[in-house]
Amino acid sequence: MLVLGAGLVGLASAWLLQRRGHPVVLVDPAIDGPPPAGGGSWAALGVLMAQVFHRSSGRGWRLRQRSHALWPQWLDALEAEGHAVARRAGLLLLASGDAELARQQRLAAERQRRGVSLGLWSPERLRELRPQLPAAALGGLHSPGDGQLDPGQAMAALLASARAGGLTCLPEAASRLERTGQGAGGGWRLIGSAGSSVEAPWLVLCTGVATAALLESLGHSLPMEPVLGQALELELNGQPAWSAPDSGWPGAVAWRGINLVPRPDLPGGRRLWLGATLEPGCRPNPEALSDLRGWGEAGLDWLGSATVTRHWQGQRCRPCQQPAPVLEVLEPGLVVASGHYRNGVLLAPATAEWVASRITTGVGA
Ligand SMILES: Cc1cc2nc3c(=O)[nH]c(=O)nc-3n(C[C@H](O)[C@H](O)[C@H](O)COP(=O)(O)OP(=O)(O)OC[C@H]3O[C@@H](n4cnc5c(N)ncnc54)[C@H](O)[C@@H]3O)c2cc1C
Repeated sequence: MLVLGAGLVGLASAWLLQRRGHPVVLVDPAIDGPPPAGGGSWAALGVLMAQVFHRSSGRGWRLRQRSHALWPQWLDALEAEGHAVARRAGLLLLASGDAELARQQRLAAERQRRGVSLGLWSPERLRELRPQLPAAALGGLHSPGDGQLDPGQAMAALLASARAGGLTCLPEAASRLERTGQGAGGGWRLIGSAGSSVEAPWLVLCTGVATAALLESLGHSLPMEPVLGQALELELNGQPAWSAPDSGWPGAVAWRGINLVPRPDLPGGRRLWLGATLEPGCRPNPEALSDLRGWGEAGLDWLGSATVTRHWQGQRCRPCQQPAPVLEVLEPGLVVASGHYRNGVLLAPATAEWVASRITTGVGA
């Protein structure tokens, strides 16, 4: 099995395939090297939005529900092997307008019918958390089952665990892909940027924004476009509201599309992550960064006086002609698991399971 791309999706797929007994070669110049320019997984905040998804049926819903069930199992398994990944439960979506508030109320009622508990937080309830939350918030939808994990730690854990299980790593870029016409799946040969040559019956493309060009070299047109995201790490001047044991802090908080993620586990215990901007293309926009820094004009003094300790950016891969993500077998032995756009961290386990099921059952061989 050749898995191309060692972002979260490729690592998750390689890890699961390895555990299910398939020999895997994971190919990516970023293995053991610096994060790739534009790689989505290194930039992600790791917010997991499954239960608050606006739809209640279809593929997107099923993938989210599956990942929601799998992530805790995966993290427990990794932790049992000694690979800890920081994670926190809880997500609060704040409403900035009447339409958003009405949507939240409808969603809470719908999820209630499915036995999923989402709490509607009144303005009075939010007031108890002031001045930490934006005064303009009209209400909020709290999901105790959603939350956040550290994507960098999750990637390191998956790689270490898969390596211990016998994963072969090729730290090169795939510079050429060829059909060999041998083997049940048709057969593939990969030529690496340092000249390595590897053959396998299956080729799994988890190469994010590079996927479209690789597919084009094989005669497939599957356009995808980059959408840049900037993010910030801030250090607060004083003790954060969430540091008190009985603070009642809701977890990650989303306001006007920007997530605030408490990171008490980072050095000093007073840091948070803020992100991410949504900018079509690859070039960062200073205005979007300024809006991000103010948490969507939240007008909060405690946030304004915090110090920026890190600023980073990455690219999400958005499919142009179909919904995210692209999970397809394009020809015998050629699997595409890419284009996860804004939810690749959440969807990595369900994607890996989909990839493994294609290969185990031979669908596409
Ligand atoms: C700022 C930001 C914040 C985000 N926040 C969240 C969030 O909170 N929650 C969430 O679920 N999602 C979030 N996302 C989205 C998420 O990061 C992506 O959907 C996810 O990381 C996609 O993972 P991937 O493995 O498909 O791609 P990537 O992480 O981009 O990995 C692709 C890999 O392919 C490799 N590659 C490319 N070309 C080749 C080649 N020729 N040969 C070999 N390897 C190659 C690259 O080196 C790279 O390592 C965020 C994204 C951004 C940018």
